[in-house]
Amino acid sequence: MNREVMLEEEKSEESQRKEVDLMMQIQRVDQLLSDLKDAFDSLVKEGMSEEEVEAILAELRHIGGGKDEIMVRVRRDLQNLYKRFYERYKSQAIITIVSDVCQGCFVRIPPVKFARIRTRKSLEFCENCGRILLWHDKEE
Ligand SMILES: [Zn+2]
Repeated sequence: MNREVMLEEEKSEESQRKEVDLMMQIQRVDQLLSDLKDAFDSLVKEGMSEEEVEAILAELRHIGGGKDEIMVRVRRDLQNLYKRFYERYKSQAIITIVSDVCQGCFVRIPPVKFARIRTRKSLEFCENCGRILLWHDKEE
């Protein structure tokens, strides 16, 4: 392999890893947002004060702003894809796989793709539901 080709491959591998990393950050924010929304809903049912409502709404806006900051670093076509899935799957655009199964649609992921997801070498999508797939080590 000549030098240019190798450099080109390294560059794309690096940008792929960056994409996986950004998606992991976004997934974390999405999780936070959904936890907070759940807490908000149950507090509303219990009848909370206006100050409490305002405090949680402020926190939601703050986290949402943080998500926007991460999102601007994501490739445009990936942003659009994410947004489409976010609507379609009620905030679950990014899915953590357990063993080799998509936890969104419970379809098995082919071994080659599964290996790429585990090593975080590239961003992969579920062949059945299209969701963005991530792997988390147990200690994380
Ligand atoms: Zn799936």
